[in-house]
Amino acid sequence: MKRIIVAIDGYSSCGKSTVAKALARHAGYTYVDTGAMYRAVALWAIEHQATEPEQIIPRLEEIHVSFLQTEDGQHTCLNGRDVEKEIRQLEVGNAASQISQIKEVRQYLVAQQQAMGKEKGIVMDGRDIGTVVFPKAELKLFLTASPEVRAQRRYDELKEKGQTPNYEDVLRDVNERDYRDTHRDESPLRQAEDAIVVDNSHLTREEQMEVIYDLFDRHK
Ligand code: C5P
Repeated sequence: MKRIIVAIDGYSSCGKSTVAKALARHAGYTYVDTGAMYRAVALWAIEHQATEPEQIIPRLEEIHVSFLQTEDGQHTCLNGRDVEKEIRQLEVGNAASQISQIKEVRQYLVAQQQAMGKEKGIVMDGRDIGTVVFPKAELKLFLTASPEVRAQRRYDELKEKGQTPNYEDVLRDVNERDYRDTHRDESPLRQAEDAIVVDNSHLTREEQMEVIYDLFDRHK
């Protein structure tokens, strides 16, 4: 069976990772969460009080991000330490959005992402997968949903994790992150010309996956 590369891009909190994980399972492919890689670098920066690019760039080689398959799914590791829980905090997400603007950080992580896709059979999600990491990916999806719907989803997710979010803060955060992701100089979030747009604001998870499995199965 032909193995392809599936690139999934889109705004924050629009369900990219849920879609990517489900599709990888459906296809028997490897899933790579590139946002987790930026989050892990951000966590390293927070822990080392390295807030400026000059403090991070010369030390990039000290930052090793890997993934561990566990019974409850894929966990992100930073220098061998399981940091899956820490990197999902709002503060780390914000820091990731900042450090992802540094060209050298992007180059460092993009090279690793491209190496992971060498054998194909991969579903990768992020912001620049269909435009920069794999511009020749056979299937490119661009997921989107309204900021309000995405803020509500993130709010519910944080609550479920035992945090005490405030909806207005979460919405502001979603809007700020969208702005940064689409306006940065280095690989801004944009839709690849050949990407298929899936707006899931009013789709159930099942409806959305039906559309996506169908798009994937056409490549078999
Ligand atoms: O997708 P997630 O919210 O986990 O990503 C965290 C941050 O990492 C995003 O706000 C985005 O700025 C950045 N990112 C990126 N390029 C990617 C994936 C994530 O710039 N391919």
